[in-house]
Amino acid sequence: MASQAQVIDGKALAEKIRRETGDLLARARAEGRVVRVAVVSATDDAAARMYVARQCADFAAAGIEALVRELPGAATEAEVVAAVEGLNRDGEVTGIVLALPLPDGIDVRRVQERIRPAKDIEGVHPRNLGLTALGRLRAGPSTAQAVIEAIDATGIDVRGKEAVIVGRSQIVGKPVALMLIERRATVTVCHTATRDLAGHARRAEILVAAAGRPEIITGDMVREGAVVIDVGINRVTLPDGTRRTVGDVRFEAARARASWITPVPGGVGPVTVAVLLRSAVSAALEAER
Ligand code: NAD
Repeated sequence: MASQAQVIDGKALAEKIRRETGDLLARARAEGRVVRVAVVSATDDAAARMYVARQCADFAAAGIEALVRELPGAATEAEVVAAVEGLNRDGEVTGIVLALPLPDGIDVRRVQERIRPAKDIEGVHPRNLGLTALGRLRAGPSTAQAVIEAIDATGIDVRGKEAVIVGRSQIVGKPVALMLIERRATVTVCHTATRDLAGHARRAEILVAAAGRPEIITGDMVREGAVVIDVGINRVTLPDGTRRTVGDVRFEAARARASWITPVPGGVGPVTVAVLLRSAVSAALEAER
């Protein structure tokens, strides 16, 4: 019988990154630096506002000041851009987070492009994506960095490995591909136009699932001994009517074949939060003054 994969403990890994963040914060304070994040939010939706409040609480719990620049759900693109530009100019703000979704009709990418790259702690500005392509791991989106942290936590050597990424989004699939290429993996990126997802997945020694499709990666798609990183967060309704969060990977079936696997929840999610905190402090440390 195949042995079960070891589970990558996202909470423990997040704890390690939070400790690193604490050390960075102590350095920032010793240097007399301000560490202050502003979250730009434009919504009237209670759940979305609660998400932003929770994000601010995460910053605060890590000792990072956070404030919300709150706009109504009817805000225009010009108003959101004006808010971002005000924060770009504000010498007391060292990091900017753009809460999504933005109101209908606003072009998210256009707004992201207006964030000053040095304050873009989420790694969504095209310049930071460009730096990622040039090999600067820490410039990229938090979730992509979290995926690399999770792979590194296994201790495997990425060099020369077959890596298959399912998803080609700007915040996960593409930057993860760039980061793994930088580490000399042989990378395949699958997406909705891919003809034989299962065939590609079965070759993967490192399989990163970031499609946002509940459990599309079934056990038979996992190569024996693979490292499986599940980025997906999908809310599903079970036959009995209860709601549950599942990943993009059928966990138990994949676990029976993989060598390492991340759970959902408790895998990439908490690591992503910790990476964002670390990026917030790093941005403050690197800020010009
Ligand atoms: P997205 O919708 O922007 O991109 C999904 C990608 O998957 C697309 O490139 C699409 O081509 C591909 N895809 C969709 N269905 C597919 C299929 N059947 N076969 C092959 N490819 C397919 O999503 P995203 O923002 O990249 O997020 C992906 C998932 O990760 C979502 O579930 C999201 O909730 C989750 N997520 C988690 C974290 C975290 O912290 N853990 C952070 C961001 C996103």
